Amino acid sequence: MSDFSMTASHARGKYEEDAVFTILKYAQESIAKYGRDQVVNATIGTLFDDNERFAALATVDEVYRRIPAVEIMDYAPISGLPGFLEAAINFTFYNQRPEAYIEAIATPGGCGAVRNVFYNYTEQGQAALIPDWAWVAYGSIARENRLRVESYQLFDRDNRFNLSSLQEKVRALLKVQDNLVIVLNTPAHNPTGYSISVTEWSAIMSFLRDMASDQDKRIVVLVDIAYLDYAGEREEVRRFMPLFGGLPENVLGAFAFSMSKSFSAYGMRSGALIGVSQSREIADEFYKVNSFSNRGTWSNGTRGAQRLLMEIAGDSQLTEAVNAERNIYRHLVEKRGEIFMREAEAVGLDVCPYQAGFFISVPAAEPETVVARLQQERVFAVPLEKGVRFAICSVPTSKIPGLAARTKKAMA
Ligand code: PLP
Repeated sequence: MSDFSMTASHARGKYEEDAVFTILKYAQESIAKYGRDQVVNATIGTLFDDNERFAALATVDEVYRRIPAVEIMDYAPISGLPGFLEAAINFTFYNQRPEAYIEAIATPGGCGAVRNVFYNYTEQGQAALIPDWAWVAYGSIARENRLRVESYQLFDRDNRFNLSSLQEKVRALLKVQDNLVIVLNTPAHNPTGYSISVTEWSAIMSFLRDMASDQDKRIVVLVDIAYLDYAGEREEVRRFMPLFGGLPENVLGAFAFSMSKSFSAYGMRSGALIGVSQSREIADEFYKVNSFSNRGTWSNGTRGAQRLLMEIAGDSQLTEAVNAERNIYRHLVEKRGEIFMREAEAVGLDVCPYQAGFFISVPAAEPETVVARLQQERVFAVPLEKGVRFAICSVPTSKIPGLAARTKKAMA
């Protein structure tokens, strides 16, 4: 009887313990027992200030509270409010807009954008290509949509972007499938904080152009920019974007824009999927298929959040205020990262090549063991397949010193 299942076969056995929330529970128990000062909780991927409180952006909060009820409670159009879509495109590219046809549709965060791209541009049962160090949800989204993921190695031996691994995997997959979605989560990658340089980007795009000379192949470059605004100076972090102009018709750029981190509005579930193509027809098709997916999956997005972005975008003073408030937190996280990396070097701790962003990861052969040992020291971090992730975004600066040394000890 215990084998009996009510689900359809493709849904059988589907469940996943969320590692972050499990460890977070342990951290909270430890805080209740020993007090907040005695515990380092590096589990949560949301930005906290140095008093360990959720970092809301004051202007975002104020603007949202001024929005009339109807603009919050009413439905939004299935594809999103037109003003929101325009604002999402402008916020994504600023002055680095590729020369191409660009279309956007609203999605519930970057997650919804990833979902639509995976689903609409990968044949059922085939694979999307993701990095080996990756946001765990890519795998869940693929499985939920009856797809698979395969991975390329993100880093080479020198801890630079591993172009050869990407090339090898793309070639192998394009031998067995005609459609391929390739995920590049940059800048300030989750979980390592790596940002692909413009030179690396040029090499990637030139390789993909070569691969696209086979007209039967369709390649979608999905750029997950969830942490873009925490990666550095506004224009600098976007400098790779113009490389998406002038692509062959069978290479489509797709940017997953998210309000979660950039506007500290995680729970409002708002983002956009932005398509970039050299072909008017492909851009139109992008708009249509992804609008249809919206209707058939979650219907419309959160109107209040869309309105919020429009209000901010429509007033340069508000835009600047939000950027300034966000930059304060960006610098705070930078400082935390600097301390960790400096100390890691001093104690000889091997760390993934962190440049910016919410997370630092430490490669480990037995991540669970390291995490368990750290827990004995009341340090809570998340075990991944290839290492241990520290969410420095939520650890106050005063608790960073010593963390690298404690980790080094836990690795021994
Ligand atoms: N991509 C990455 C790498 C993330 O870490 C996250 C959130 O944690 C997202 C996308 C999407 O977040 P949201 O759906 O809240 O926009």
